[in-house]
Amino acid sequence: MPKRGETSTIMSDKSTSSKAPAATATETPQVSLPPRKIYSIVKYGDPVLEKPGAPVKKFDAELEELAEDMFASMYAAQGVGLAAPQIGKSMRFAVVDVTGGKNPEAKIVLANPEVTHAEGEVREEEGCLSIPGFRGYVVRPQFVTVKAQNVKGEPFEIRGENLLARAFCHEIDHLNGILFLQHLGMLKRDMIKRKIKKLRKQGEW
Ligand SMILES: [Zn+2]
Repeated sequence: MPKRGETSTIMSDKSTSSKAPAATATETPQVSLPPRKIYSIVKYGDPVLEKPGAPVKKFDAELEELAEDMFASMYAAQGVGLAAPQIGKSMRFAVVDVTGGKNPEAKIVLANPEVTHAEGEVREEEGCLSIPGFRGYVVRPQFVTVKAQNVKGEPFEIRGENLLARAFCHEIDHLNGILFLQHLGMLKRDMIKRKIKKLRKQGEW
C-alpha cells in the first residue's frame, strides 16, 4: 500500500461505512463496541494472493463485522488499504482509508469493485502489507472512477485522485490476484523475489 501522508482527494463519501470509529490495536475499545479481530496479514508466496477472489454475494452482519475487523487490522499494520485475500479470504472485498483512521468519513468499503474510468498517469513509489520491506515505482492513473457495492450491497460510484486512485487500483489488483511486483520492471521484480527467497530460507519471511 502507498504510504500515508501523501496528498489525496476524496471526491465522494457515499461509500463511507458505519460512522462508528473502529477500535485499533493501540486504543482501548469503547464499551459499546465489540473488540475487533486483528487479522495477521498473508505474505507473498501464499497462493491466495495470486488467485482472483470470488464475488461477494451475501451482504449480512457477518460481512459488516469483517469490514470493521479489516479496518482495524489495516490500521494496526499502518496501511491505507487491505484486500480480503491478504487475510486469506479469497473474495472481492477490500477496505481503503488514506487518512489512516483519522477521519471516519474517509473509510471506504469496496465489495465487487471495478474501475470504470481512468485518466492520467502518476509514477510513485508503492508498497504492500503482504510484501513488507520492499517498495517500487509503479505507474497508476491519476484519477479513477470505481463502481462497487457498499457493505450493505448498495451500488455506488466513487472517484479518487492521486493516492486514493492508487489505493483503489492496488486493492482491485489484489482482488484479481495481481501484486504490485507485476507492475515493476523485470530487474527490480527479480531482485525483490530473490531477496524474499533468501529471507524465506533464513526463516525470516
Ligand atoms: Zn497490497
